[in-house]
Amino acid sequence: MTFDPHQLRDDFPILRRTVASGQPLAYLDNAASTQRPQVVIDAMSDCYQNYYANVHRGIHTLSEESTAAYEAARVTTQHFLNARSSREIVFTAGTTAGINTVARSWGHANVGRGDVILVTIAEHHANIVPWHQLAEAVGCRVEFLPINQSGTIDDSVVAQALKTHRPKLFAFTATSNVLGTNFPAQSWTEMAHRSGAAVLVDAAQAAPHEVIDVQQWDADFVVFSGHKVCGPTGIGVLYAKLEHLEAMPAFLGGGGMIQTVTTEGFTATEPPEKFEAGTPPIAEAIGLAEALRYLQRVGLDNIRQHENALCQRADQALRQIEGVDVLGPMPDLKGGIVSFTMDRIHAHDIAQWLDTRGVAVRAGHHCAMPLHDVLGKTASARASFYLYNTVEEVDRFIEAVQEVRKKFA
Ligand code: PLP
Repeated sequence: MTFDPHQLRDDFPILRRTVASGQPLAYLDNAASTQRPQVVIDAMSDCYQNYYANVHRGIHTLSEESTAAYEAARVTTQHFLNARSSREIVFTAGTTAGINTVARSWGHANVGRGDVILVTIAEHHANIVPWHQLAEAVGCRVEFLPINQSGTIDDSVVAQALKTHRPKLFAFTATSNVLGTNFPAQSWTEMAHRSGAAVLVDAAQAAPHEVIDVQQWDADFVVFSGHKVCGPTGIGVLYAKLEHLEAMPAFLGGGGMIQTVTTEGFTATEPPEKFEAGTPPIAEAIGLAEALRYLQRVGLDNIRQHENALCQRADQALRQIEGVDVLGPMPDLKGGIVSFTMDRIHAHDIAQWLDTRGVAVRAGHHCAMPLHDVLGKTASARASFYLYNTVEEVDRFIEAVQEVRKKFA
Protein backbone atom coordinates (compact mmCIF):
# COMPACT_ATOMS: atom_id res chain seq x y z
CA MET A 1 0.00 0.00 0.00
CA THR A 2 1.53 3.35 -1.00
CA PHE A 3 1.06 6.06 1.58
CA ASP A 4 -1.11 8.92 0.32
CA PRO A 5 -2.89 10.98 2.98
CA HIS A 6 -5.31 12.41 0.41
CA GLN A 7 -6.41 8.91 -0.50
CA LEU A 8 -6.57 7.81 3.15
CA ARG A 9 -8.92 10.70 3.90
CA ASP A 10 -11.58 8.95 1.83
CA ASP A 11 -11.64 6.21 4.48
CA PHE A 12 -12.82 8.72 7.12
CA PRO A 13 -16.37 9.96 6.49
CA ILE A 14 -16.21 12.69 9.14
CA LEU A 15 -13.39 14.44 7.26
CA ARG A 16 -15.82 15.29 4.47
CA ARG A 17 -17.81 17.64 6.64
CA THR A 18 -17.35 21.37 6.88
CA VAL A 19 -17.28 23.57 9.97
CA ALA A 20 -17.38 27.25 10.77
CA SER A 21 -19.65 28.44 7.95
CA GLY A 22 -18.47 26.18 5.21
CA GLN A 23 -14.75 25.84 5.91
CA PRO A 24 -13.34 22.39 5.21
CA LEU A 25 -12.38 20.69 8.45
CA ALA A 26 -8.66 20.55 9.28
CA TYR A 27 -8.73 18.19 12.24
CA LEU A 28 -5.53 18.79 14.22
CA ASP A 29 -6.72 17.52 17.60
CA ASN A 30 -5.56 13.94 17.22
CA ALA A 31 -3.65 13.76 20.49
CA ALA A 32 -7.00 14.22 22.23
CA SER A 33 -8.83 11.72 20.04
CA THR A 34 -8.53 10.43 16.48
CA GLN A 35 -11.27 9.84 13.92
CA ARG A 36 -12.54 6.44 12.76
CA PRO A 37 -12.30 4.94 9.30
CA GLN A 38 -15.44 3.44 7.73
CA VAL A 39 -14.14 -0.11 8.30
CA VAL A 40 -14.24 0.43 12.08
CA ILE A 41 -17.74 1.90 11.97
CA ASP A 42 -18.83 -1.01 9.75
CA ALA A 43 -17.30 -3.65 12.01
CA MET A 44 -19.21 -2.29 15.00
CA SER A 45 -22.46 -1.95 13.04
CA ASP A 46 -22.03 -5.48 11.77
CA CYS A 47 -21.71 -6.72 15.33
CA TYR A 48 -24.84 -4.89 16.48
CA GLN A 49 -26.84 -5.77 13.36
CA ASN A 50 -25.88 -9.40 12.99
CA TYR A 51 -24.44 -11.20 15.97
CA TYR A 52 -24.41 -9.07 19.13
CA ALA A 53 -25.07 -10.79 22.47
CA ASN A 54 -23.33 -10.86 25.83
CA VAL A 55 -20.07 -12.80 25.82
CA HIS A 56 -18.80 -15.78 27.80
CA ARG A 57 -22.24 -16.54 29.23
CA GLY A 58 -24.92 -17.68 26.84
CA ILE A 59 -24.95 -21.12 25.28
CA HIS A 60 -26.61 -19.88 22.13
CA THR A 61 -25.48 -18.98 18.66
CA LEU A 62 -25.23 -15.21 19.02
CA SER A 63 -23.37 -15.40 22.30
CA GLU A 64 -20.93 -17.89 20.86
CA GLU A 65 -20.35 -15.70 17.80
CA SER A 66 -19.89 -12.58 19.94
CA THR A 67 -17.52 -14.42 22.26
CA ALA A 68 -15.48 -15.68 19.31
CA ALA A 69 -15.22 -12.14 17.86
CA TYR A 70 -14.37 -10.62 21.26
CA GLU A 71 -11.62 -13.19 21.88
CA ALA A 72 -10.33 -12.80 18.32
CA ALA A 73 -10.00 -9.06 19.08
CA ARG A 74 -7.81 -9.98 22.02
CA VAL A 75 -5.55 -12.03 19.77
CA THR A 76 -5.33 -9.17 17.23
CA THR A 77 -4.30 -6.86 20.09
CA GLN A 78 -1.76 -9.42 21.31
CA HIS A 79 -0.16 -9.46 17.85
CA PHE A 80 -0.28 -5.64 17.60
CA LEU A 81 1.83 -5.45 20.77
CA ASN A 82 3.78 -8.65 20.14
CA ALA A 83 2.74 -9.96 23.56
CA ARG A 84 3.65 -13.56 24.37
CA SER A 85 0.07 -14.59 25.09
CA SER A 86 -3.43 -13.20 24.58
CA ARG A 87 -3.89 -13.83 28.31
CA GLU A 88 -1.62 -10.81 28.87
CA ILE A 89 -4.18 -8.52 27.20
CA VAL A 90 -6.84 -7.03 29.49
CA PHE A 91 -9.54 -4.88 27.89
CA THR A 92 -10.20 -1.81 30.02
CA ALA A 93 -12.14 1.40 29.46
CA GLY A 94 -8.99 3.27 28.34
CA THR A 95 -5.52 4.33 29.40
CA THR A 96 -6.85 5.96 32.56
CA ALA A 97 -8.68 2.79 33.58
CA GLY A 98 -5.59 0.70 32.83
CA ILE A 99 -3.31 2.79 35.05
CA ASN A 100 -5.91 2.87 37.83
CA THR A 101 -6.15 -0.92 37.64
CA VAL A 102 -2.39 -1.24 38.13
CA ALA A 103 -2.39 1.32 40.97
CA ARG A 104 -5.31 -0.26 42.81
CA SER A 105 -4.35 -3.87 42.27
CA TRP A 106 -0.56 -4.17 41.88
CA GLY A 107 0.03 -0.96 43.84
CA HIS A 108 -1.97 -1.92 46.90
CA ALA A 109 -0.35 -5.37 46.95
CA ASN A 110 3.25 -4.26 46.39
CA VAL A 111 3.74 -0.68 47.55
CA GLY A 112 3.90 0.43 51.17
CA ARG A 113 4.79 3.29 53.49
CA GLY A 114 7.94 5.15 52.45
CA ASP A 115 8.12 3.45 49.02
CA VAL A 116 8.54 5.61 45.94
CA ILE A 117 6.68 5.75 42.64
CA LEU A 118 8.85 7.56 40.10
CA VAL A 119 7.16 9.46 37.24
CA THR A 120 8.23 12.28 34.93
CA ILE A 121 6.97 15.83 35.23
CA ALA A 122 5.66 15.46 31.66
CA GLU A 123 2.95 12.94 32.58
CA HIS A 124 -0.73 13.23 31.78
CA HIS A 125 -2.86 13.43 34.94
CA ALA A 126 -3.87 9.81 34.24
CA ASN A 127 -0.33 8.81 35.18
CA ILE A 128 -0.10 11.10 38.21
CA VAL A 129 -3.40 11.11 40.08
CA PRO A 130 -3.68 7.30 40.57
CA TRP A 131 -0.21 7.42 42.21
CA HIS A 132 -1.23 10.35 44.43
CA GLN A 133 -4.27 8.28 45.39
CA LEU A 134 -2.03 5.30 46.12
CA ALA A 135 0.17 7.58 48.24
CA GLU A 136 -2.89 8.69 50.23
CA ALA A 137 -3.92 5.08 50.75
CA VAL A 138 -0.61 3.39 51.60
CA GLY A 139 1.76 6.20 52.55
CA CYS A 140 4.16 5.97 49.58
CA ARG A 141 5.70 9.01 47.85
CA VAL A 142 5.51 10.21 44.25
CA GLU A 143 8.77 11.62 42.89
CA PHE A 144 8.99 13.58 39.63
CA LEU A 145 11.84 13.57 37.10
CA PRO A 146 12.46 17.10 35.79
CA ILE A 147 12.72 17.96 32.10
CA ASN A 148 15.62 19.98 30.76
CA GLN A 149 15.54 23.22 28.72
CA SER A 150 14.94 21.35 25.50
CA GLY A 151 11.97 19.37 26.84
CA THR A 152 13.74 16.05 27.18
CA ILE A 153 15.20 14.09 30.11
CA ASP A 154 18.82 12.92 30.09
CA ASP A 155 19.48 9.28 30.88
CA SER A 156 21.88 10.41 33.60
CA VAL A 157 18.99 12.15 35.40
CA VAL A 158 16.94 8.95 35.21
CA ALA A 159 19.89 6.88 36.46
CA GLN A 160 20.48 9.25 39.37
CA ALA A 161 16.79 9.24 40.38
CA LEU A 162 16.67 5.44 40.24
CA LYS A 163 19.76 5.32 42.45
CA THR A 164 18.56 7.95 44.92
CA HIS A 165 14.92 6.90 45.29
CA ARG A 166 15.07 3.14 44.59
CA PRO A 167 11.46 3.31 43.36
CA LYS A 168 9.10 0.35 43.46
CA LEU A 169 7.70 1.49 40.13
CA PHE A 170 8.87 3.77 37.35
CA ALA A 171 5.77 4.92 35.44
CA PHE A 172 6.43 7.10 32.39
CA THR A 173 4.87 8.11 29.13
CA ALA A 174 6.50 6.91 25.91
CA THR A 175 5.45 10.20 24.27
CA SER A 176 4.46 13.41 26.03
CA ASN A 177 0.99 14.59 25.05
CA VAL A 178 2.13 18.23 25.32
CA LEU A 179 5.78 18.40 24.31
CA GLY A 180 5.59 15.49 21.90
CA THR A 181 8.90 14.27 23.34
CA ASN A 182 9.59 10.58 22.77
CA PHE A 183 11.10 8.94 25.83
CA PRO A 184 13.19 5.77 25.31
CA ALA A 185 10.89 3.06 26.65
CA GLN A 186 13.26 0.17 26.13
CA SER A 187 16.43 1.64 27.65
CA TRP A 188 14.63 3.29 30.57
CA THR A 189 12.91 -0.01 31.32
CA GLU A 190 16.26 -1.78 31.31
CA MET A 191 17.72 0.83 33.67
CA ALA A 192 14.71 0.60 36.00
CA HIS A 193 14.80 -3.18 36.10
CA ARG A 194 18.50 -3.11 36.94
CA SER A 195 17.66 -0.96 39.96
CA GLY A 196 14.85 -3.32 41.00
CA ALA A 197 11.87 -1.19 39.91
CA ALA A 198 8.87 -2.44 37.97
CA VAL A 199 7.91 -0.37 34.91
CA LEU A 200 4.64 0.96 33.54
CA VAL A 201 4.73 2.63 30.12
CA ASP A 202 1.87 4.95 29.22
CA ALA A 203 1.63 4.33 25.47
CA ALA A 204 -1.49 6.46 24.89
CA GLN A 205 0.46 8.76 22.55
CA ALA A 206 2.84 6.11 21.22
CA ALA A 207 0.53 3.28 20.17
CA PRO A 208 -1.12 5.40 17.43
CA HIS A 209 2.21 6.24 15.83
CA GLU A 210 4.82 3.53 16.25
CA VAL A 211 5.31 -0.20 16.26
CA ILE A 212 5.25 -1.37 19.86
CA ASP A 213 6.95 -4.59 20.81
CA VAL A 214 6.25 -5.22 24.47
CA GLN A 215 8.75 -8.08 24.58
CA GLN A 216 11.47 -5.77 23.33
CA TRP A 217 10.46 -3.00 25.74
CA ASP A 218 10.21 -5.63 28.49
CA ALA A 219 8.00 -3.28 30.55
CA ASP A 220 5.83 -4.88 33.19
CA PHE A 221 2.75 -2.89 32.19
CA VAL A 222 1.83 -1.03 28.97
CA VAL A 223 -1.44 0.85 28.50
CA PHE A 224 -3.18 2.61 25.63
CA SER A 225 -6.64 3.81 24.51
CA GLY A 226 -8.81 2.69 21.58
CA HIS A 227 -10.01 6.16 20.64
CA LYS A 228 -6.46 7.39 19.97
CA VAL A 229 -5.74 4.61 17.46
CA CYS A 230 -8.76 5.21 15.18
CA GLY A 231 -10.82 2.87 17.34
CA PRO A 232 -13.90 3.41 19.50
CA THR A 233 -14.19 5.25 22.79
CA GLY A 234 -14.81 3.23 25.96
CA ILE A 235 -12.09 0.69 25.33
CA GLY A 236 -8.40 0.51 26.10
CA VAL A 237 -5.73 -2.06 26.65
CA LEU A 238 -3.75 -3.03 29.71
CA TYR A 239 -0.88 -5.30 28.76
CA ALA A 240 0.81 -6.90 31.76
CA LYS A 241 3.28 -9.74 32.07
CA LEU A 242 1.30 -12.85 32.88
CA GLU A 243 3.14 -13.46 36.15
CA HIS A 244 1.91 -10.06 37.38
CA LEU A 245 -1.69 -10.67 36.32
CA GLU A 246 -1.62 -14.04 38.03
CA ALA A 247 -0.25 -12.60 41.28
CA MET A 248 -2.28 -9.37 41.35
CA PRO A 249 -5.58 -9.32 43.25
CA ALA A 250 -8.70 -8.59 41.21
CA PHE A 251 -9.55 -4.88 41.27
CA LEU A 252 -13.23 -4.65 40.26
CA GLY A 253 -15.50 -7.37 41.57
CA GLY A 254 -18.62 -8.73 39.91
CA GLY A 255 -19.77 -11.06 37.19
CA GLY A 256 -17.25 -12.54 34.77
CA MET A 257 -14.23 -12.39 37.10
CA ILE A 258 -15.12 -15.18 39.52
CA GLN A 259 -14.69 -18.91 39.76
CA THR A 260 -17.02 -19.37 42.71
CA VAL A 261 -19.08 -17.12 44.96
CA THR A 262 -20.55 -18.19 48.29
CA THR A 263 -22.14 -16.31 51.16
CA GLU A 264 -18.67 -16.31 52.71
CA GLY A 265 -16.62 -14.97 49.84
CA PHE A 266 -15.37 -15.61 46.32
CA THR A 267 -12.50 -17.02 44.32
CA ALA A 268 -11.31 -15.08 41.30
CA THR A 269 -10.90 -16.69 37.90
CA GLU A 270 -7.74 -16.63 35.78
CA PRO A 271 -6.44 -13.58 33.90
CA PRO A 272 -7.42 -11.79 31.77
CA GLU A 273 -11.08 -12.33 32.79
CA LYS A 274 -10.05 -11.77 36.42
CA PHE A 275 -9.66 -8.07 35.49
CA GLU A 276 -12.74 -7.78 33.27
CA ALA A 277 -15.60 -7.72 35.77
CA GLY A 278 -19.05 -7.02 34.36
CA THR A 279 -20.12 -6.91 30.73
CA PRO A 280 -17.03 -5.87 28.78
CA PRO A 281 -16.93 -3.42 25.85
CA ILE A 282 -17.81 -6.06 23.24
CA ALA A 283 -18.53 -4.08 20.07
CA GLU A 284 -15.74 -1.71 21.08
CA ALA A 285 -13.19 -4.56 21.24
CA ILE A 286 -14.31 -5.65 17.78
CA GLY A 287 -13.97 -2.06 16.53
CA LEU A 288 -10.56 -1.73 18.17
CA ALA A 289 -9.27 -4.87 16.45
CA GLU A 290 -10.47 -3.49 13.09
CA ALA A 291 -8.67 -0.19 13.83
CA LEU A 292 -5.43 -1.99 14.70
CA ARG A 293 -5.62 -3.98 11.45
CA TYR A 294 -6.27 -0.74 9.56
CA LEU A 295 -3.18 0.93 11.08
CA GLN A 296 -1.09 -2.11 10.25
CA ARG A 297 -2.29 -2.06 6.64
CA VAL A 298 -1.37 1.63 6.35
CA GLY A 299 1.91 0.89 8.13
CA LEU A 300 2.93 2.47 11.42
CA ASP A 301 6.34 3.38 10.03
CA ASN A 302 4.65 5.27 7.17
CA ILE A 303 2.38 7.03 9.65
CA ARG A 304 5.27 8.09 11.82
CA GLN A 305 7.31 9.37 8.91
CA HIS A 306 4.36 11.36 7.55
CA GLU A 307 3.54 12.94 10.90
CA ASN A 308 7.16 13.85 11.50
CA ALA A 309 7.23 15.68 8.17
CA LEU A 310 4.03 17.59 9.03
CA CYS A 311 5.28 18.33 12.53
CA GLN A 312 8.60 19.61 11.18
CA ARG A 313 6.83 21.93 8.74
CA ALA A 314 4.50 23.28 11.43
CA ASP A 315 7.24 23.60 14.03
CA GLN A 316 9.59 25.51 11.75
CA ALA A 317 6.87 27.87 10.52
CA LEU A 318 5.60 28.58 14.04
CA ARG A 319 9.10 29.48 15.22
CA GLN A 320 9.19 32.20 12.52
CA ILE A 321 6.09 33.94 13.89
CA GLU A 322 6.88 36.78 16.26
CA GLY A 323 5.88 36.14 19.88
CA VAL A 324 5.37 32.41 19.42
CA ASP A 325 7.00 30.08 21.94
CA VAL A 326 7.08 26.45 20.81
CA LEU A 327 7.17 24.09 23.78
CA GLY A 328 9.32 21.01 23.78
CA PRO A 329 12.16 19.71 21.65
CA MET A 330 12.95 20.17 17.98
CA PRO A 331 10.90 17.95 15.66
CA ASP A 332 13.49 15.19 15.30
CA LEU A 333 13.02 14.29 18.98
CA LYS A 334 9.25 14.30 19.05
CA GLY A 335 6.11 12.77 17.60
CA GLY A 336 3.42 14.61 15.66
CA ILE A 337 2.58 17.15 18.35
CA VAL A 338 3.37 20.87 18.44
CA SER A 339 2.30 22.89 21.46
CA PHE A 340 2.89 26.62 21.62
CA THR A 341 1.98 29.86 23.32
CA MET A 342 1.81 33.43 21.98
CA ASP A 343 2.83 36.54 23.88
CA ARG A 344 -0.15 38.24 25.50
CA ILE A 345 -2.67 36.05 23.65
CA HIS A 346 -4.55 33.37 25.55
CA ALA A 347 -4.48 29.84 24.14
CA HIS A 348 -8.29 29.78 24.11
CA ASP A 349 -8.34 32.85 21.86
CA ILE A 350 -5.92 31.11 19.49
CA ALA A 351 -8.07 27.96 19.33
CA GLN A 352 -11.25 29.97 18.90
CA TRP A 353 -9.84 31.98 16.01
CA LEU A 354 -8.46 28.86 14.35
CA ASP A 355 -11.90 27.28 14.60
CA THR A 356 -13.33 30.13 12.54
CA ARG A 357 -10.88 28.99 9.85
CA GLY A 358 -11.98 25.37 10.15
CA VAL A 359 -8.81 24.36 12.01
CA ALA A 360 -9.43 22.25 15.13
CA VAL A 361 -6.68 22.47 17.77
CA ARG A 362 -6.77 22.04 21.53
CA ALA A 363 -6.16 24.76 24.10
CA GLY A 364 -5.64 24.47 27.84
CA HIS A 365 -3.35 22.47 30.11
CA HIS A 366 -4.04 19.19 28.23
CA CYS A 367 -4.36 17.33 31.56
CA ALA A 368 -0.73 18.14 32.33
CA MET A 369 -0.87 20.87 34.98
CA PRO A 370 2.44 20.00 36.71
CA LEU A 371 4.23 20.25 33.36
CA HIS A 372 2.64 23.62 32.56
CA ASP A 373 3.60 24.82 36.04
CA VAL A 374 7.29 24.10 35.50
CA LEU A 375 7.12 25.65 32.03
CA GLY A 376 5.65 28.77 33.66
CA LYS A 377 2.50 28.59 31.51
CA THR A 378 -1.12 28.37 32.47
CA ALA A 379 -2.20 27.03 29.10
CA SER A 380 -0.95 26.27 25.61
CA ALA A 381 -2.40 25.61 22.17
CA ARG A 382 -1.66 22.22 20.64
CA ALA A 383 -1.78 20.99 17.07
CA SER A 384 -1.45 17.23 16.70
CA PHE A 385 -1.22 15.36 13.42
CA TYR A 386 -2.26 11.98 12.15
CA LEU A 387 -2.19 9.87 9.04
CA TYR A 388 -5.01 11.75 7.29
CA ASN A 389 -3.59 15.26 7.75
CA THR A 390 -2.01 17.00 4.80
CA VAL A 391 0.63 19.63 4.06
CA GLU A 392 -2.21 21.93 2.92
CA GLU A 393 -3.81 21.64 6.37
CA VAL A 394 -0.52 22.52 8.06
CA ASP A 395 -0.28 25.60 5.86
CA ARG A 396 -3.87 26.62 6.67
CA PHE A 397 -3.03 26.20 10.36
CA ILE A 398 0.04 28.42 10.05
CA GLU A 399 -1.85 31.08 8.09
CA ALA A 400 -4.54 31.15 10.77
CA VAL A 401 -1.90 31.55 13.53
CA GLN A 402 -0.41 34.45 11.56
CA GLU A 403 -3.86 36.02 11.48
CA VAL A 404 -4.14 35.61 15.26
CA ARG A 405 -0.87 37.49 15.61
CA LYS A 406 -2.19 40.39 13.55
CA LYS A 407 -5.63 40.43 15.15
CA PHE A 408 -4.81 40.06 18.85
CA ALA A 409 -1.25 41.34 19.34
N1 PLP B 1 -1.88 9.39 28.91
C1 PLP B 1 -1.60 10.22 27.89
C2 PLP B 1 -0.18 10.47 27.53
C3 PLP B 1 -2.63 10.83 27.19
O1 PLP B 1 -2.34 11.67 26.19
C4 PLP B 1 -3.97 10.57 27.56
C5 PLP B 1 -5.09 11.25 26.87
O2 PLP B 1 -4.96 12.32 26.34
C6 PLP B 1 -4.21 9.70 28.62
C7 PLP B 1 -3.14 9.13 29.26
C8 PLP B 1 -5.60 9.38 29.06
O3 PLP B 1 -6.26 8.62 28.08
P1 PLP B 1 -7.80 8.27 28.22
O4 PLP B 1 -8.50 9.59 28.46
O5 PLP B 1 -8.15 7.66 26.91
O6 PLP B 1 -7.94 7.33 29.35
